[in-house]
Amino acid sequence: MKQITDFPNLPLGLLPTPLYRLENLSRELGRNLYIKRDDLMGVALGGNKVRKLEFLLADARSKGADVVLTAGGPQSNHAMLTAACAARLGMEAILVLKKRGVLEGGNLILDRIFGAEVRFVDTDSYDDVYGEMDRLMEDLRRQGRTPYFIPVGGSVPLGCLGYVNCAKEIANQAEELGVAFDAIVSATGSGGTYAGLTLGAKLFLPGTQSVGIGVCDDPFEEIAYDLMEGTARLLEWDGPVEREDIHIRYHIGPGYAVPSPEGTAAVERLARTEGVLVDPVYTGKALAGLLQLLEEGCFGEEENVLFVHTGGAGALFAV
Ligand SMILES: *Cc1c(COP(=O)(O)O)cnc(C)c1O
Repeated sequence: MKQITDFPNLPLGLLPTPLYRLENLSRELGRNLYIKRDDLMGVALGGNKVRKLEFLLADARSKGADVVLTAGGPQSNHAMLTAACAARLGMEAILVLKKRGVLEGGNLILDRIFGAEVRFVDTDSYDDVYGEMDRLMEDLRRQGRTPYFIPVGGSVPLGCLGYVNCAKEIANQAEELGVAFDAIVSATGSGGTYAGLTLGAKLFLPGTQSVGIGVCDDPFEEIAYDLMEGTARLLEWDGPVEREDIHIRYHIGPGYAVPSPEGTAAVERLARTEGVLVDPVYTGKALAGLLQLLEEGCFGEEENVLFVHTGGAGALFAV
């Protein structure tokens, strides 16, 4: 098996990110809740995409890329963080975004501050977005440029390595704290974070269940399985990737990127108990999903549950 350190990586994030017990919320709920602060990543407003970009942009650089293209919704955290990381590396970023949903404020402001070129495509389908990206990359090549393509969310096996590595980080921190986590819970939007964490849990956190809370209605059981397989192959790990390892719940509310009452309540609850901001699109809904699981009696008083805070605060300012 290969080591994660065998893959080129640009140290863009400040790692390890903090991991600690949510004392007030744990007391209120009568459970043991911990948080992994991947919102505190030292780039822009932080967030999970930085861990993926450390590997993806290292690959881009090794291929001589001078411009990186990625896709997303108009408030994409991934696109914004790609712009931030590309700026730091002296690469140009072109963000091709779906012209749907909230088109002002939030991450769109940050995209411009980071100097990215933003292009909108008026469509519901990523096929159209990718078609436009193909055309743009053709043009760039004709101008003698070297573009690098990153799909939505950076959810390809190379990006997933970032979260295999996060699971390893969690294992080290758990040992330092003297706790064993029964479950780690994370938001799932394009599947890469969950796939990486779930494969990483198999490797470094045996006995820890990885639970993903889907925030859109894509079939994440399938998506995560395929990404886990691809990532295992990349690592030349020949152990089994099993469907039994995959635990997906959904908290979509009225729709992707549309706030839900439970998600909004979760944003306020974490802010008012712990002074920590989650967002209405991903982490607020994931926390709402976790609170729902606790209400259903999942995870007892003796069990330790880790919530992986994947970032997203920019969405709180989208108008
Ligand atoms: C992208 C994102 C997620 C979901 O991660 P995926 O790897 O796309 O499933 C979760 N939280 C935030 C804040 C994100 O930006």
